[in-house]
This record gives sequence, C-alpha cells and structure tokens, in this order.
Amino acid sequence: MSTLFDLSGRVAVVTGGNGGIGLGMAEALAGSGCAVSIWGRNAEKNAAAVARLKATGGQVSARFCDVADRASVEEAFSATLAEFGRVDGLFANAGITGRTKGPFIDRDMDDWRRVMEANVEGVAHCFQLAARHMVERAKAGDPYGRLVATSSVASIEGAAQNEHYGASKGAVNSFVRAIAVDLARHGVTVNTVLPGWIETDMTARAFADERFVKAVSPRIPVRRFGTPADFGGIAVFLMSRSSSYVTGQTLVVDGGYSIF
Ligand code: NDP
Repeated sequence: MSTLFDLSGRVAVVTGGNGGIGLGMAEALAGSGCAVSIWGRNAEKNAAAVARLKATGGQVSARFCDVADRASVEEAFSATLAEFGRVDGLFANAGITGRTKGPFIDRDMDDWRRVMEANVEGVAHCFQLAARHMVERAKAGDPYGRLVATSSVASIEGAAQNEHYGASKGAVNSFVRAIAVDLARHGVTVNTVLPGWIETDMTARAFADERFVKAVSPRIPVRRFGTPADFGGIAVFLMSRSSSYVTGQTLVVDGGYSIF
C-alpha cells in the first residue's frame, strides 16, 4: 500500500477546527492517522467536534484559543506541546468576516481592526510559535514542518463591499510567501488555501438569500457550491511528506469560480 499520504506519528493543530472548513480539514487529517488538536473559542462547539473526530479512531483534543490574543495562543500552543510532545503542522484556518459590509466610505474602522486582528495577526501569532518550535526541532536533526493558512478567493478578486476582509486575506497571501523563503531551509513549508464559496456558518446568511444563490451558481464551472469535505484531501496532501516541494503557494479550491 502507498505511504504517500500516511500521517501516522504526525501532530497537527487546526485553528477554527470546531466547525466549517476547519472541521473538514481536521476530519481528514485524523482519518489519515494524524493526531489533531482543534482550537476554538466556543467550548460547546469544541466538545461536539471532538466527539465527531473521535469516530475516525484518531487521537484528538480541543483547546480554548482566541487567535487574536497572543497570550491565548501561547497557552494553547504550550498545552498542545505538553499533550502531544510535538507539532508538525499548523493550519491557521480560524477567521471572521466583517460585521459591517457595504461602501468603504461608510466603514466603521473598529470593524477593520477586528478583522485584521483575527485574520492577519491571528495567523502571525500561530505561525510564529509553530515556526520557532519547528526550527528548533530542525536544528536538533528532525526537520519537518507544515504551515497552512486559510485565505480566500476574496484576496485575488475585488472583494467589493467587504474590502477589509479581502485586504486581510491578501495580507495573509503576501505574508506566507515572505516567510516561506525564510523557513524552507529548515524543512518547513508554508502555503495558503483559497476557498471559493463554501456552505458554512460564515456564509449561512448569503446562502439563505435566493438572489445570491441564483447569481453565483452559474459562475461555478463544476456546478455546485463547496463543502467543508472539499478541504480534506488538500489538508492531507499539504500535511504529508508528498508536499515537501510545494511552498509559498496559494492553492485555490473554488470549483473554478475564480477563472470563470
Ligand atoms: P466558520 O464560521 O464555520 O468557522 C470559523 C471558525 O473560526 C470557527 O470554528 C470559529 O470558532 C473560529 N474562529 C473565529 N474567530 C476565532 C478566533 N478569534 N480565535 C479562534 N477561533 C476563531 O467559517 P468557515 O469554515 O467558512 O471559515 C474558515 C476559514 O475559511 C476562515 O478563515 C474564512 O475566512 C475562510 N473562508 C471561508 C469561505 C466560505 O465560503 N465559507 C470562503 C473563503 C475563505 P469559534 O466560534 O469557536 O471561535
């Protein structure tokens, strides 16, 4: 049997892994033999996700973490290291969209700050702690690291009426390319996944609007909206040894939406 995507003995963290795209990633990682710690703010969602992930037979846990808060990320990272002994992959997937949408000239700049703190600084906090740990391990003769951020197609198209969200994801793409250069020599790859339109809690309001569904569905060449399960295979690939020559990339997972 091929071991191309075997993740036995590996440990991954998935932020925002208690629902939506993050849970889709966590489920596939756990099903491929990876130990998984999901981080989120909502205790009930964390517990429900762990119960679901346990069905894969994998080793799973959940931690409280607010990625926008450095101290909280430090605490979750130390607790995960104490529990599993190592972190081989960090999927910085947690993210929010703006509370306010509409013309930029009316934007509440507190909302801008909130989006940047969660979507940009949140990724930076997680990646910095994971990268320090991975570089230390590489120096001790065990080079292996996978950093993956969930960005968005909003970072490459005009995110009209939601420019703070688009700008935050554009910043993530750029940040990932920059640190991929630094970290490559330590065996650490850094990539972003760019989802298109995926049905999750974040997009529930849009999907409940018939006009949105009618307008967007003809723009998706594969002729369906995405689901969290569509992110399982790419998470396993990026976590695996097979992706060791892929770094600094933005991998679009959108059913062709952005090329149409
Ligand atoms: P969900 O709202 O379903 O999930 C978001 C997750 O992030 C939740 O698990 C939430 O957990 C967690 N989260 C949010 N803020 C924080 C925080 N400050 N600290 C820790 N965890 C946090 O949305 P999606 O699954 O759709 O979104 C996942 C990622 O995908 C996001 O980065 C989003 O921007 C991106 N994306 C989504 C698209 C879509 O169409 N759905 C399209 C493009 C990109 P909790 O509530 O426990 O904090």
